[in-house]
Amino acid sequence: MPGLRVHVPVGTRFAIGVVVRIHSDEPEFKTKPIRSTLDTEPVLDAHMLSLTEWVSRDTFSSWGETIQAALPVGLNYMSEKRIRTVPHLFPSPKGADILNDVDLAGSISLEEAEKRWGDKMIQKLVTGGFLDIIEEPKTTMKSESDWMTDWASDGRRLLNELIEDPPKRNPAWFKLAPILMDLELPMPMSRLLDETGAKEHQIRKWIDLGILESRKVVRTLTEPDRRMYPERMHALNEEQQEACAPILEAFPNPAKPFILFGVTGSGKTEVYIQALYTCFVAGKSGIVLVPEIALTPQTVQRFKRVFGDNIAVMHSRLTDRERYNTWMDIRSGRKTIVIGARSAVFAPVQNLGLIIIDEEHDSSYRQEDPAPRYDARDVAMHRAEMSGAVVVLGSATPSLTTLHATAKGLMTLLRLKGRHADAALPQVTVVDLKLYKHAMRGALAVPVHTAMEEALSRGEQAIVLFNRRGYARFMMCTSCGATCDCPNCSVTLTYHRTSDSLRCHYCGYSERVPRVCGSCTQATIEEQGSGTQKVEEELEAHFPNARILRMDRDTTSRRDSHASILNAFGKGEADILVGTQLVSKGLDFPNVTVVAVVHSDTELAFPSYKSAERMFQLLTQVAGRSGRAEKPGVVFLQTYKPDHPSIIHATHHDFESFAREEMRLRKSLLWPPYSKLITFEFKDRDSQRVADVAQAFASVLNQESSDMPVLGPAPSAIHRMMHEYRWELLVKSDPMWSSLAREEWLNRIFKEYALVRPPGGTSVRINVK
Ligand code: ADP
Ligand code: ZN
Repeated sequence: MPGLRVHVPVGTRFAIGVVVRIHSDEPEFKTKPIRSTLDTEPVLDAHMLSLTEWVSRDTFSSWGETIQAALPVGLNYMSEKRIRTVPHLFPSPKGADILNDVDLAGSISLEEAEKRWGDKMIQKLVTGGFLDIIEEPKTTMKSESDWMTDWASDGRRLLNELIEDPPKRNPAWFKLAPILMDLELPMPMSRLLDETGAKEHQIRKWIDLGILESRKVVRTLTEPDRRMYPERMHALNEEQQEACAPILEAFPNPAKPFILFGVTGSGKTEVYIQALYTCFVAGKSGIVLVPEIALTPQTVQRFKRVFGDNIAVMHSRLTDRERYNTWMDIRSGRKTIVIGARSAVFAPVQNLGLIIIDEEHDSSYRQEDPAPRYDARDVAMHRAEMSGAVVVLGSATPSLTTLHATAKGLMTLLRLKGRHADAALPQVTVVDLKLYKHAMRGALAVPVHTAMEEALSRGEQAIVLFNRRGYARFMMCTSCGATCDCPNCSVTLTYHRTSDSLRCHYCGYSERVPRVCGSCTQATIEEQGSGTQKVEEELEAHFPNARILRMDRDTTSRRDSHASILNAFGKGEADILVGTQLVSKGLDFPNVTVVAVVHSDTELAFPSYKSAERMFQLLTQVAGRSGRAEKPGVVFLQTYKPDHPSIIHATHHDFESFAREEMRLRKSLLWPPYSKLITFEFKDRDSQRVADVAQAFASVLNQESSDMPVLGPAPSAIHRMMHEYRWELLVKSDPMWSSLAREEWLNRIFKEYALVRPPGGTSVRINVK
């Protein structure tokens, strides 16, 4: 059946695959039999098979990779080593008990067996030929059925006989005998196991003896709690109603995707909730995508208040088991509204009615590594089109790609121009750091420090953003200027004070801080730049009475710590929240009246055509955290580049002007959305070989695509990573191309390249993104 996973021989090994089609066309190659099917029910339905196939074409990845991305860990292709007994003429001199147990269980995971009986013993039995190691899939997808277990027709009598004449060695399963006598049968296997504490294989033994019998029945699950609380929804204000109406009208009549463009605090979330409610009442399910870091309890709570237990939350901090259970809840229809990050776009909901993508401009919607390098927005729109669902993108700073699509009539623009209840947008002040060189209080210029002090004295709160991108603290020799770099990745190592070590943020390499400089042997290595920790310490020094919380990757690595930090801040247990981009998104704290950005222009240090857009988005988002309720807010942007358009327009909350200027620039340089970028990435351990291959590939591209600009080849921004050298080539392709046309072009390029490939070039890996 399509959608089932199967265990199949590949070469000398076994692998897990997914059936995508049943046919009787004879293939050109020799086939082998399927070893076993893993699932009794498909893990993917026809809809998901077709969606994943489309994604694989759209992203130059394999269908298998895409399917893997769509399935929860545990239902993918993972297998494990297990042992089972080998029929033998002579009994083993040792370990008869072990063999007996393994036999009864059918098979046992090698890991578990070694834990139970010691790896030496197991090894002995394997080399003696009594045990066999096999590779088995890890989890299987069982239909939601159960085995109703009852006495066999002669069962009670047989049991009595057995108790009178017990088996010799008193095996584990036999210990159940007295318990069984007292049980009220029939009962489902799952309950039987619960009540007796027995293992399923032990019950099976009783069935084999003809004492118990079982038949398959549909599992009765506890009825899901479908209660909802529409009375908790806010009544939409006039502007919100106007924006919401076309969405509601679209439910019976599929329409173009909507882009809900509303300033921060305008109530986009309220519109989502209203739309979801309508969708739910119509008996359909919905998916809400939010950026991973905005997937806070605060956000989830706003939906749960109204939709109660119908909400399934999918985020990266779930354990594999939780992820699997959530997935099953959705698949079985017990939960019909999904909130999650990027990969929730593949949630197995039935009867999809609505997909919402909040903060649609966010870069986390694009998966970079590993393949498939998909964009959840594209997948969402395609999936919605396939199932006749409505799509709503929302943002205060829509991506220029989305704006472009709107201008071309491919999306419908909905506006929310004001904040709810006319809360004022915060007043934004640009602070030119060049002028305050001698008037700094730690990381903050004097006027910023003063404003924060005043706010704190009124009992209000402040957020300090320190954008870490391309800017972290590092060690430099003040005599010769040499920095401490990662030996694997050619990036500067970051200094961590807590462990007094230097660490690479890409490969994890770490070393102790050297006492003397490796280049000039002077003992003048000193800390440079700063990180959130340093900013925190400076804040502590300059606000001695304030309670400060820090939120960055170091403090949020523990499960749930992200949530507990925000929770504490929300409850007013701290006065200042300092952190990286983590603090910029989706937070709604009415008592925050000052937001300060330590260095507004660090984003520009990152080499990308999107830098200005990202910087504008970041500044607008973080500014939106200030003054969200009655109290007016202020925002300070400290910068070395006060004249940069992203800063000037962010100051006036003027997205339109920013977009207009930036679009003009993109058009003249043919950057997206006026082109679609295709990146070729070359990787190899040999720096010369990878350069040669990149050159050869570039010459093919230039010949075959004379009408499309080709950039490079050039060494990648991080030239060396994990001992590999990397080069890149960029093609600005026609944005109107169909994925089929692109695929054909790509095949042609690779064919041509094969003819001119330099010697040894086959070892160079080429990624297409
Ligand atoms: P956005 O998602 O656009 O940033 P939110 O939905 O978070 O905006 O709204 C900002 C604040 O205003 C929230 O605290 C929200 O509860 C409140 N709010 C928005 N619309 C309404 C409404 N119609 N009635 C009551 N409160 C509202
Ligand atoms: Zn490294």
